[in-house]
Amino acid sequence: MTLTQGNTIDFDSARLKLSENASTVAVLPAQTNLISLAAVQDKLTQSLQTSLELDRILELFFQELRAYLGLDCLDYRLEGRNLHHRIGQPSLHRCSYRMTHEGSFLGEIQFGRKKRFTEAHLKTLETLLGNLLYPLRNALLYREAVYCAHNDSLTGVGNRLAMDRALDREVRLSIRNRSTLSLLVLDIDYFKQINDQYGHACGDDALKAVVNCIRNCLRGADDIFRMGGEEFVILLGDTAANEARMVAERIRCAIEEMQFQTDGISIPITASLGVATRRPDEGIREILDRCDKLMYCAKRAGRNRIAAQ
Ligand code: GH3
Ligand code: MG
Ligand code: MG
Repeated sequence: MTLTQGNTIDFDSARLKLSENASTVAVLPAQTNLISLAAVQDKLTQSLQTSLELDRILELFFQELRAYLGLDCLDYRLEGRNLHHRIGQPSLHRCSYRMTHEGSFLGEIQFGRKKRFTEAHLKTLETLLGNLLYPLRNALLYREAVYCAHNDSLTGVGNRLAMDRALDREVRLSIRNRSTLSLLVLDIDYFKQINDQYGHACGDDALKAVVNCIRNCLRGADDIFRMGGEEFVILLGDTAANEARMVAERIRCAIEEMQFQTDGISIPITASLGVATRRPDEGIREILDRCDKLMYCAKRAGRNRIAAQ
């Protein structure tokens, strides 16, 4: 049997309530209260300002609270942003808080404990959650800023900066491990005509549809980047030439068969791809240039095809 107590904590009204009732902050039983609540809050204030990383913030918060409240587990989720962090082992007794601040939902946090949560525990937790508020909000904002700096806002795939970093990392890895590394450069054929005939918004939808299509053809470890306009780079780590050709052909076929529609009208979309596998003497620029040139070979040869070397 698991016991869960649920609560919603709106930090704005909680803050008001706490300052009105400052003297009524719960006092825990003597054995758990060897350190004062104020001392725990001081430590939290100090430690939580040392990081902007969400997992680190949650870890530090849990470390401080674990001993003080006899907690076994902290579980944090933010749906919609696909965030889920769990620290410790699930426990019999749980209490959870849905946290909001200034109209923004900051996620749901659940605490687990072998023994039941008393009223005093819950009040203490709520007080300490107040110390988590700004570090948590800042960590979420930081995550978003990092995401925006590395991802294309239209399609969600990595941007040029992310591509340069990933390529740098993968090329080093491939040199160190003597593993193969392949690249695909993909450019949509006659894309300008889609914009011209059906409008820019339809062109945007077509770009998103192509990205979805590429994603469905890849393994989880493969990365897609938008190099610019309607040109994408696909990074295939630890992939030899024949396998890379197969992936490229799979993507080409999937795009051709995609059935993209706007206002009930089917719009055929095709793409041309260059496929290159890193040669021992090649750095990032060399393999990228070679792959780009191969993509242009595919264009010159009639489009809707792959060119590999
Ligand atoms: P090719 O087969 O030779 O590649 O022809 P193309 O028409 O695809 O190539 P071209 O370079 O002439 O045109 C690319 C077009 O992509 C022009 C530009 O307006 C459009 N484009 C670039 N970025 C975006 C975007 O974010 N959204 C939309 N809708 N269009 C974009
Ligand atoms: Mg094009
Ligand atoms: Mg192009």
